Amino acid sequence: MSPSAVLPRDNAPDALSVLNSVFGLPAFRGAQEEIVRHVTSGGNCLVLMPTGGGKSLCYQLPSLLREGCGIVVSPLIALMRDQVAGLLEAGVNAAVLNSTLSFDEASEVERRLLAGDLDLLYVAPERLLTPRCLSLLGQANIALFAIDEAHCVSQWGHDFRPEYIGLSAIAERFPDVPRIALTATADEMTRKEIVTRLGLTGAPSFISSFDRPNIRYEIVEKQNAPAQLKAFISERHAGDAGIVYCLSRAKVEDTAHALTSAGIPALPYHAGLDAGVRARNQDRFINEDGVVIVATIAFGMGIDKPDVRFVAHLDLPKSIEAYYQETGRAGRDGKDSSAWMAYGLSDIVQQRRMIDESTGSDAFKRVSIGKLDALVALAETAGCRRGRLLGYFGEEVSGSNCGNCDNCLSPPQLRDGKVAAQKLLSTAYRTGQRFGAMHLIDVLVGRLTEKVTQFNHDKLSVFGIGRDLNEKQWRAVIRQLVAMGHLRADSEAFNALKLTESARGVLKGETEIMLREAAPGTRIRANRAKSRRGDLAPRAEAKPADAPLQAALRAWRADIARQRSVPAYVVLHDSTIDGIAAARPMTLNDLRNIPGIGDKKLEHYGDELLALVRSADA
Ligand code: ADP
Ligand code: ZN
Repeated sequence: MSPSAVLPRDNAPDALSVLNSVFGLPAFRGAQEEIVRHVTSGGNCLVLMPTGGGKSLCYQLPSLLREGCGIVVSPLIALMRDQVAGLLEAGVNAAVLNSTLSFDEASEVERRLLAGDLDLLYVAPERLLTPRCLSLLGQANIALFAIDEAHCVSQWGHDFRPEYIGLSAIAERFPDVPRIALTATADEMTRKEIVTRLGLTGAPSFISSFDRPNIRYEIVEKQNAPAQLKAFISERHAGDAGIVYCLSRAKVEDTAHALTSAGIPALPYHAGLDAGVRARNQDRFINEDGVVIVATIAFGMGIDKPDVRFVAHLDLPKSIEAYYQETGRAGRDGKDSSAWMAYGLSDIVQQRRMIDESTGSDAFKRVSIGKLDALVALAETAGCRRGRLLGYFGEEVSGSNCGNCDNCLSPPQLRDGKVAAQKLLSTAYRTGQRFGAMHLIDVLVGRLTEKVTQFNHDKLSVFGIGRDLNEKQWRAVIRQLVAMGHLRADSEAFNALKLTESARGVLKGETEIMLREAAPGTRIRANRAKSRRGDLAPRAEAKPADAPLQAALRAWRADIARQRSVPAYVVLHDSTIDGIAAARPMTLNDLRNIPGIGDKKLEHYGDELLALVRSADA
């Protein structure tokens, strides 16, 4: 029996030639080759790779190379649909089995599975675990099980899905079928849980670097967030697709309006919207070019869109894990992208309050506060953001300058902040640790407000001792002292700033304090500088693409995508469009050499694409 309908029937094909003929790709990336070889020869494994690292090929290729059908467990219906659309475009016999199918449609898929007519079948976990489905799989010829988003089995993780727990049944029922678990979540505890729950003890883990060299990290001081966001988009990402994250529904709506009225096409997405509206906005974001989606964190998991050029945070996420995951949705295609966040003291206070007011146990609250502190330290660091981020995930980083984060591109000035810190801490102390940032700053700069007079704070020795710094600088001092843990905002007392145990050392002059200057306002311009360590950028970028041809190709792609009701990137990736526009192929053979053009795409679109190139030449 032939392993696959798309492959030659007689001689067994090797992985590289399938990579080339089906996916149109010239070479493996990173650990892909080793993983594919391991799984194809029947081994189990755990694969940890960052978003955009190329996890899909790690199970898609072995499914094509082995006898039978590869079963992919994925929690996300939208993602399954888009992956299957992409596979069908490449000529692979793929299908889904989930709740969106009618009974007849599902029966047809089941029939094809039993007939050996499928190479890949995507199944929702709850579906897979039904007795009917398990018995169906028992009768079918199964090439492998791929458990995507495997961190969803972890009860400690941030994406726990109860239906994933039952997946341990796979190892019990099908001990001889290889299992490959994949995730982009790195932490040790989650990793261990995946291994035990999915029966992978003793199987190798393939752990890639979590660096995303094409993402530029940038964290700015929040002043007027909507205006800062508009400037960021129009100066750096005009016409690009992006995601803006906000904490509340109201802020999502306001921000989407603000962007739209500034001429930036933006759509809201949050749980309060009607399901139809939400689905429509998501589809437009995925299928159209250059749409910005403004969303709560409910948005993004399972969005496979490769050409998201920026992710902006207007509110602080909960943890470095969340920040990494959300920013990771930018630049899956390996092209230059931005992760931009505006953050201020109120963000720390707000997140702290959310933790304090949550119903979790004390242990849970302590863990949450630790995670928040780590993120705040990332936001306040004067060192390389990438180094901090990777260090948090336990990855050693070589060199201290990544060349592609704000601090490396424009190093902040550090100054001795001991005296400023002492002035601030004494002011908090002398005013009874009952006031928030605003009032402390009024006292420091000697402003005779109503409140200052009311409490006789103008009579204190600290009144006006901080005139050497302005309000913005004092805010930065407070933020950093909170980040360092010398000061704490008490959410039960109107965010009064209170001294912590460690503040004593600062007041006594025993603790050295280095503070970064309030952002001098240097803006990083367009993402021109290339990351030094990256090798993900498509080769085609070496040659400048021909702009009119590129536009013509995009317009053609939009047409085809509409006709076939698939996302534009399923027809051709941006990098493939750029590759064609740069190389201007004249023959089918030349076209076939462009990454992303496999046999099926050549057959379907080759002549049309060559005609477009020729007419752009005329
Ligand atoms: P992940 O699931 O790890 O987030 P994907 O499997 O979606 O990543 O792959 C991310 C992008 O990288 C896709 O656009 C894919 O086409 C591309 N890609 C994957 N492997 C390769 C490769 N070997 N060569 C070129 N592009 C690749
Ligand atoms: Zn850096």
